[in-house]
Amino acid sequence: MNCNRCGGLMAYEKFYSPVEDFFGWRCISCGEIVDQVILENRTRQRG
Ligand SMILES: [Zn+2]
Repeated sequence: MNCNRCGGLMAYEKFYSPVEDFFGWRCISCGEIVDQVILENRTRQRG
């Protein structure tokens, strides 16, 4: 998977938010974070 902002390599990591822990993709170049919820929202925007 590549970053949609800069095209860099993304790493699958665990994140710790105040609400709950979650897994997502973080760009090692620019720091862009994409998690499962964001991906689902993006794919549903056309509907
Ligand atoms: Zn990036």
